[in-house]
Amino acid sequence: MPTYEYICKECNKTFVVISTISQHEKDQKPACVNCGSKNVEQYYSSVTVITSKKS
Ligand SMILES: [Zn+2]
Repeated sequence: MPTYEYICKECNKTFVVISTISQHEKDQKPACVNCGSKNVEQYYSSVTVITSKKS
């Protein structure tokens, strides 16, 4: 299952949600695990960007 990373706009905590694609397409935002707010935004971590230069 895919994982999505979110950041909470209330407390600025990031958290990872494991969600089905169908759930994600419905734009169902999860509640913040820290404060329970649904004022969250999807967050793209730079950690997941792996540059593989093989020249
Ligand atoms: Zn929060």
